[in-house]
Parts: sequence; structure tokens; C-alpha cells
Amino acid sequence: MIPFVDFKRKYKAYQKDIMRVIARVFQRGWFILGPELEKFEKDFSEYIGISHAVGVNSGTDAIFLALKALGIGAGDEVITVANTAVPTISAIRMTGAIPVFIDIDEKTLTIDVKKIEPSITKKTKAIVPVHLYGFAADMSAVMRIAKKHKLKVVEDACQAHGALYKGKKVGVWGDAGCFSFYPTKNLGAFGDAGAVTTNNKSVANAVRSLRNYGEISKFNNEIEGVNSRLDEMQAAVLQWELTKLDSWNTQREKLAQLYCKYLKDVPVSLPAQSNFACERVWHLFVVQTSRRDELKAFLKEHGIETAIHYPKPIFEQTAYAFLKYTEKDLPHTKKATETILSLPLYPEMTKQEVKKVCDAIRSFYERSK
Ligand SMILES: *Cc1c(COP(=O)(O)O)cnc(C)c1O
Repeated sequence: MIPFVDFKRKYKAYQKDIMRVIARVFQRGWFILGPELEKFEKDFSEYIGISHAVGVNSGTDAIFLALKALGIGAGDEVITVANTAVPTISAIRMTGAIPVFIDIDEKTLTIDVKKIEPSITKKTKAIVPVHLYGFAADMSAVMRIAKKHKLKVVEDACQAHGALYKGKKVGVWGDAGCFSFYPTKNLGAFGDAGAVTTNNKSVANAVRSLRNYGEISKFNNEIEGVNSRLDEMQAAVLQWELTKLDSWNTQREKLAQLYCKYLKDVPVSLPAQSNFACERVWHLFVVQTSRRDELKAFLKEHGIETAIHYPKPIFEQTAYAFLKYTEKDLPHTKKATETILSLPLYPEMTKQEVKKVCDAIRSFYERSK
């Protein structure tokens, strides 16, 4: 059996480190907004190459609180894509704003920047580009359009810890960058966690206040906030994980290149590689094929777990039917949801396992020749 993800392997490989870090937090007896979070925020901002990182409870909250800190609210329109994790949209809706969907580039599966300007109205206040699967959206173009129309930019970098665009990490380009440390992410906690990155001190301070009931100091609330804190236990684990992130990303890269090598002459489309602008990281390894459902079932029969990110464009989810989009509005988005298949990829996966997955895919096509 080759599982799609396996956190038990990670624990087994690093049990000593993990237990040492957690014991430190228990021994100190300080669990919320303490020195572990402060240290992690400092380390993460240095890693990303930005002045501020603010820990919050999740990637969803990172996007929600960043938008809120930037003044986005009810009635505003926020431009984004429909081939993303639902939380990108939940976060926009939590501010009261309306998501406006733009179709994607067929090759990179990220926002088609040519389509942004025609969708801008008087109500448009922000753009939320998504760096899908670890591949950066075209940030120069997004920033140029945002500047021209005075829009805020909040990067959804929840799948792209460490990815570069024009030599700088994602999360530094927009007014704010948003990260998730959900366990499956390249930097994954043992629970929920997230962070907002920004070079703007007042945005950082606003998120700090919003995440802690809107307090600016103890029992002093000048704005309405929420409870969205990154706890000390997760912060301690994340500090340690951050020292591993580059080597884990390198390991993912090696396995992804093996996939590309073994699948070169198999009739599936391979994922977008790094190009001039973007040095991607591998969050997911996503192939495309018109026989996706058949292939997925075949691999399952052969003990290989796969997944689909994501099986429906957001506008086909019942919860978002009120947005009134159809596949005619977003043809590339719709087509991608029908052909994409995520193969297993994690640092603890072995080269032999990648070979096994590829052999199975090859036999699927040979069998049906
Ligand atoms: C994971 C993810 C999120 C949400 O992160 P959570 O920590 O689960 O709230 C948002 N956007 C994208 C693209 C994601 O992959």
C-alpha cells in the first residue's frame, strides 16, 4: 500500500526531536502567546525575507484577517480563482466581500492575468492570487494591475512555503502573504496553524490585535476581533520544522523529478516545471489525463492512494451557487477539475515507491492499448 500521506512516518523519523520540543513547552508551562510563538514569527519572517510574520490559527484565518486588516469588508469585490481550496473563498466571505472568479492559465493552472482587468468594477478592492501546488502566480503582472487600479493584494501562499518568484519568496509580493501550516503542507504542524507575512507595520499590528479579540493591550479593545492564535506547542514544533523545510523541499523536488523521468513517455500531462519567473516548490504532484477517473480507480485497485485537488470548481459547490457562475464563464477551470490527479508526494516517500506508482500508471495505459 502506498498512502497519499503518512504522518506516522514523519513521527517515526523525528520522534526524539519532536518530543524534546514539546517537553520544552510543557516544562515552561506557557501555552498561548508566549516566547515560542515570538521566536517562530521572527524565524519565519527571516526565512520569507520580510519584516513581519504574525502567527494565527489557520491559513483560512490568515487570509480572512489579512483582508480585514487591509480594510476589505461587506459589499467589496475580491478577485480570485475557482480552482482553489474552499477556504480561500470562505476567508473572503468571512469579511462579507464577494469573490469574483477569473479563469486560469491552462499550463500553470494559476490565475490568467490577462483576464483580471476586464473584471474590475468600482467595487473591486483586492486580488487574491493562489500559488497553486507550489507554483507562483504571475506576481509582476498582478502587482502592476493592482497598482494601476489601487487594489490590495493578498497572496494565498498556503501551498507554496519557500517557492520563489523572480528570486524572492512568495509572500513578500503583495500587501500581505498568507500561509497555512495544516499537517499536509510543506511546513506542516501537528494540528492547525497559519501566518500572515507583511512589510507593512500597521497591517501586522492590526492582525496581531484582530487575532486576540481585538485587544491592543490587555482588556483594551479598540476594534472588534476574533480568537485566532497560534499556540505555543505548534509554534515550538514549527520552529524546529522550519530548520528542516529546505531539505524537505529538496527531497520533494528529487521525487518530483523522478516522477517526471519515469512518466516522460506515458500519455499523461506533467505538471508545470520551474520557468524564468518562478522557482516552484512541490506541494502536490498533479498530472492531467482525460481518463482521470479510470486511472484513479486502477491505481486504487493496485494499492496506490491518489487525490484530486480539487474535484469541483468552487462555483459548483452548493454553498457558493449564489455566486451564479457556470462552466461557460471559466472553461479552463472546469476542464482542469475533470483531468487533474494528485499522486502521492512527501519527503518520507521512497524512490522505490515513486517507481511503483509510475509502473502502475504505465501498465494502466499498456493494458488498454
Ligand atoms: C490549505 C489551504 C488553505 C487553508 O488553510 P487552513 O490552514 O486549512 O485553514 C487555503 N488556501 C489554500 C490554497 C490551501 O491549500
